[in-house]
Amino acid sequence: MMHEDDRETLILGEDIDDDHFHDECGVFGIWGHPEAAKLAYLGLYALQHRGQESCGIVTRDGEILHTHKGMGLVRELFTEAELDKLTGDAAIGHTRYSTAGPSAGKNAQPFSVQCSKGPLAVAHNGNLTNGWELRKELEDSGSIFQATSDTEVIPHLMARSRETTLSQALRESLLRLEGAYSLVLLANDRLIVARDQRGFRPLSLGRMTAPDGSTAYVFASETCAFDLIQAELIDEVHPGEMIIVSDEGISRERFAPELDRAHCVFEHVYFSRPDSRVYGRPVSQTREILGRILARESPVPADCVIAVPDSGVPAAIGYASESGLPYRLGLIRNHYVGRTFIEPQQTMRDFRVRQKLNPVRHVVEGQRVVLVDDSLVRGTTSRKIVRLMREFGAKEIHLRISCPPTIGSCYYGVDTPSTAELIGANQTIEQIREFTGADSLAYLSLEGLEKSMGDIAGDCCYACYTGKYPTELVGIETLTSQAKK
Ligand code: SF4
Repeated sequence: MMHEDDRETLILGEDIDDDHFHDECGVFGIWGHPEAAKLAYLGLYALQHRGQESCGIVTRDGEILHTHKGMGLVRELFTEAELDKLTGDAAIGHTRYSTAGPSAGKNAQPFSVQCSKGPLAVAHNGNLTNGWELRKELEDSGSIFQATSDTEVIPHLMARSRETTLSQALRESLLRLEGAYSLVLLANDRLIVARDQRGFRPLSLGRMTAPDGSTAYVFASETCAFDLIQAELIDEVHPGEMIIVSDEGISRERFAPELDRAHCVFEHVYFSRPDSRVYGRPVSQTREILGRILARESPVPADCVIAVPDSGVPAAIGYASESGLPYRLGLIRNHYVGRTFIEPQQTMRDFRVRQKLNPVRHVVEGQRVVLVDDSLVRGTTSRKIVRLMREFGAKEIHLRISCPPTIGSCYYGVDTPSTAELIGANQTIEQIREFTGADSLAYLSLEGLEKSMGDIAGDCCYACYTGKYPTELVGIETLTSQAKK
């Protein structure tokens, strides 16, 4: 999905990353620290990979909530001067890649409202599968929406609740939501976080010591945000759990029973940073095992293993360790591709991939290469990379993908192309091999993926690989297409 006002993602979306799903959103929350805004800024900075379109921070200073949000990257939107205006000892933040609602400044989160329960700000990661139904219901009874994101239904439901306390109103509202949500909510006297009953998207709880020696509590989509601010990981927010932090301390409660878990496996395959722990498990560990099992399942005589950087690196290392083949740095990623760059008028084949990735000639020349990537969505980028590797002299290219073929769209907060665009849903492995131009192609098996996750209990969602969705999706295609308008 491309948006007019998308900038860096536009560059990525058209070339190097069109063989990957796009990231979704990252959330952050902190309570009880005088530098709340700066710590939220750093937290979002660490979560930037989860969304590059827009971001925002809301702080609480006494009775007042201060907001700054807009389009762009965290480091661009927040200057020192802007952060100085965000006074207070509590904050929530959000970084966004739109999955519901078009990309626009008005959809930047957190959303702030003034209602009978006082000032509120809310930010959310995930996708509400009944978000548009709820919105219609609320609009029919007089609610006026400012944006088109599904998240906005949450404060509207809360504002309409007859419950008198904020926590009760949120509890009542959460029970109306279906689908995936890890949310952070800030009021003038408390921070509340909640996670849906299946735990689709990650959310962790941590703590750090404030300058006066008291404990500040922090929440983040990924633990890499804790590392940057030197917070200590305590636990995950459990599915169906609500945690309330105020000046009185922290309380944890279930707002609803936990349902069969459906942790998004793609967080481990691709989204999350390898230095994060997600669902209580190090992401880098999973990715290395993905590569190891892939090597066991699909060995091939070759001279070296090369990763498609950056996200294919841990799986490539795993493949190399298991196969005994050397891991070589044969593709280099340019991390400094700017938002604007000057393209030559002369047409250069695969220019957009070339400006991001460059093969190392002396490493690939004359070699039989195992090329490891973590996903293959449309196949167009893989095809270009294979072509580049050949141009730089690779003798054979054996493409290995560290997950099964993607055959279904995601309705839980990951921006996937439609089934018609998913090459894995429409072509055989041999057809895909032919399309990419590789000498051989193999994907990890579903069993291999489950084993890599250590998922004996069936706690993960694999729907985009199996087409078996963990929730009912009545009318979802219509609703999703409305959301993307
Ligand atoms: Fe994750 Fe795929 Fe399930 Fe979506 S459908 S939650 S991307 S595993």
